[in-house]
Amino acid sequence: MTDCLFCKMVSGEIEPDKVYEDDQVLAFRDINPQAPLHVLVIPKEHIATLNDVDDTHRLLVGQMVQAAASIAARAGMDGSGYRTIMNCNADGGQTVFHIHLHLLAGRRMHWPPG
Ligand code: 5GP
Ligand code: ZN
Repeated sequence: MTDCLFCKMVSGEIEPDKVYEDDQVLAFRDINPQAPLHVLVIPKEHIATLNDVDDTHRLLVGQMVQAAASIAARAGMDGSGYRTIMNCNADGGQTVFHIHLHLLAGRRMHWPPG
């Protein structure tokens, strides 16, 4: 997807503030952080929304979740805790149409979310 912002991060056309990378997953700091630690974990494969996740993506989505947990642990925020979020489409507040897991940590989160 040449016009996708996050695909451009994967290809290196845009250089993200990278915090983690493996064969399938990339993670970088959010440009507009909502917590002291705000990282986006994305699959290298372009998947537009959670509605497009299928059986072939099961391991990939697990790898994203595991990456988020290990980033939180590396930052020393696993014990204090963190929040992970995936927004889908308009009502979910999705603005970038390449799936991403938000990892937020370093402050007390509120519930219910806005
Ligand atoms: P969504 O609203 O789709 O769940 O989340 C998209 C996230 O991408 C937002 O938190 C937004 O701040 C972040 N974002 C948008 N453009 C950029 C960018 O160019 N670089 C980075 N690092 N994050 C971005
Ligand atoms: Zn993409």
